[in-house]
Amino acid sequence: MAKPPSRLLDRLPTLPHGAPRVDRTPPEARARRRLRACAECDWVVLLPPLRPGEKADCPRCGHTLVKRHFRPAQRSMALALAALLALGLAMAFPFVSFSVGGIGNRIELPQTATTLIGFHQPVVAGAVILTIMVLPAVYLLGVIWLQLGLLREAPLPASRTIARSLAQLTPWMMADVFIIGALVSLIKIAGMASVELGISFWAFCAFAILLLMTSQSLDADWMWFSLAGEPRAPEGTRTGEAAAPQGLAGCHTCGLVNRLDTGGRGRCRRCGDRLRSRLPHSLQRTWALLVAAAVMYVPANVYPIMTTTSLGHRSPSTIVGGVVELVQMGSWPVAAVIFVASVMVPVGKLVALAWLCLVVHRSSELNAVTRTRLYRLTEFIGRWSMIDVFVVAILVALIRAGSLMSIEPGPAALAFGAVVVITMLSAMTFDPRLIWDGSPPRHSPTTPDRHPQGNSG
Ligand SMILES: [Zn+2]
Ligand SMILES: [Zn+2]
Repeated sequence: MAKPPSRLLDRLPTLPHGAPRVDRTPPEARARRRLRACAECDWVVLLPPLRPGEKADCPRCGHTLVKRHFRPAQRSMALALAALLALGLAMAFPFVSFSVGGIGNRIELPQTATTLIGFHQPVVAGAVILTIMVLPAVYLLGVIWLQLGLLREAPLPASRTIARSLAQLTPWMMADVFIIGALVSLIKIAGMASVELGISFWAFCAFAILLLMTSQSLDADWMWFSLAGEPRAPEGTRTGEAAAPQGLAGCHTCGLVNRLDTGGRGRCRRCGDRLRSRLPHSLQRTWALLVAAAVMYVPANVYPIMTTTSLGHRSPSTIVGGVVELVQMGSWPVAAVIFVASVMVPVGKLVALAWLCLVVHRSSELNAVTRTRLYRLTEFIGRWSMIDVFVVAILVALIRAGSLMSIEPGPAALAFGAVVVITMLSAMTFDPRLIWDGSPPRHSPTTPDRHPQGNSG
């Protein structure tokens, strides 16, 4: 980022003279020919007019291009305010308490992170506090700031920067994963001690659901149209073809089709985001991150993820050892959750991404659809591996009854957290458009499939 984006944004085309600073009419009512290049397969299509509750999917790969909501600004604003309120409540009250043999402990939500610092695990503590509280709070404040400006019909300062950043924060918010981690921890210790859920636990559940609804409610297409109108597509853009051979690229942030310079780079005329025909060195970077994740996966499994002290007896347990223990206790469902999240998902993701990199240039159109679906799945499931890290954070904070019963984090917690983060990054550096580059051209429609939201696309 050599150049401050504000100067670039000043030169961006705006709405016609005399129009309100924020355009609250739906984009389809004003701009007639709206083109998009699919972020996953690079296909250029003409967007159909959408009614509230409808979405448009790419006709070639099925990726959702645009979702239209009813009253998008009011909806996101209300959800974000409610989510922030729920987070406030979750911070203010006790989260869970446990007692064994007359000794007990009660924790508040932030302690799930701060206790780890006491055990010399500041990186894991940072990851926990960032993913469950700080990033979601920043995201919600950003949504409120942005929508407030749109509702007042005068965007507040930094609106475009915030609108650009929101999508990048989304994969790193893990309140929903934390809830599953909390449930797993509670079931794990329910047999050994009595556990009580506090008000904060329920408030946090509400927060996780509201946060998910807020991120789902954001209509980026409408938002960017309201902030900066819809500049015309470059002269001569052809639909029903890939964008790259035409020297064009779709913006990943606002969707606009832009012309690139001869080096295949550029800046979006509407949001100012960097554009690339294909992510640079996508395969090399993905490979490098995959190797790093595979290397980290060794200590993650060899070292104990936590050590339980019960009646003075210390017993360290690894990830797989923990699963075996749960099976022996008869907790099959929890054992299955941990096994899937901590073993199957990371290994499956490494294998799937490595396979996608290997066969990227050997393709047929049908094959490309399947591979894009596999890529989407690896991107979606990656964050759920954090369950085990959250289980450690919760148990370490909660189970503190000295030599009677206590739990310490092990070195594998950091290694495993690194595996999760690195595999997420490797999925992000892989450019799914590469899958489609070698596929033979087929007679694909030029207009997206338009249907009600909720139908899988
Ligand atoms: Zn597509
Ligand atoms: Zn853009």
